[in-house]
Amino acid sequence: MDAYPGGCACGVVRYRLTSVPMFVHCCHCRDCQRQTGSAFVLNALIETNRIAIDSGCPEAVPVPTDSGRPHDIYRCPKCGTAVWSDYGHRPKLRFVRVGTLDDPSAIEPDVHIYTRSRLPWIALPQGKSAFAEYYDSARLWPAASLARRQAVMSG
Ligand SMILES: [Zn+2]
Ligand SMILES: [Zn+2]
Repeated sequence: MDAYPGGCACGVVRYRLTSVPMFVHCCHCRDCQRQTGSAFVLNALIETNRIAIDSGCPEAVPVPTDSGRPHDIYRCPKCGTAVWSDYGHRPKLRFVRVGTLDDPSAIEPDVHIYTRSRLPWIALPQGKSAFAEYYDSARLWPAASLARRQAVMSG
C-alpha cells in the first residue's frame, strides 16, 4: 500500500502518509506514558513532506521533556488529538502517532525502546528488537531508511 490515511477524533485534521515510514518506534518511556495517558506511544518516523494534509492544520504545542530536548506535539486545533511530534526541532522529520491512522494495524513497530519503564503487564513480542533505553539506528535500520534519514538531516 502506498498511502496510509489518518486523522484526529473530530475529523477536522485529515492526512495521508504517502509512503511507508522509515522506522517505527514503540516507546515505553515515562514522557510518552504521561503524554498519552497510556502504556506507550507508537511513532512512525517519516519525512514531513511524505505527510499529505488533506484538511485542518495541526498546531504545535511544546511540552517539557526529561532530556531537556525540544518536543512539539502537533494537535488538532479543535479536538486536541495529537497526530504527530517534532522531536528536537527537526522540521523535515515527523513522528506520526500510529493510533491516528484509519487502520493502525497497517504499521507495526520495528523496535521497542525505553523498556526500562515498560509497564510490567506488557509482554514484548518475540523476535522484535527491544532496548532498555535508546538504540543505535545505524545498526538496526535498513539501508534504504538510513539513506532517507540522511537526506532529511542534511537538507
Ligand atoms: Zn480534531
Ligand atoms: Zn518515549
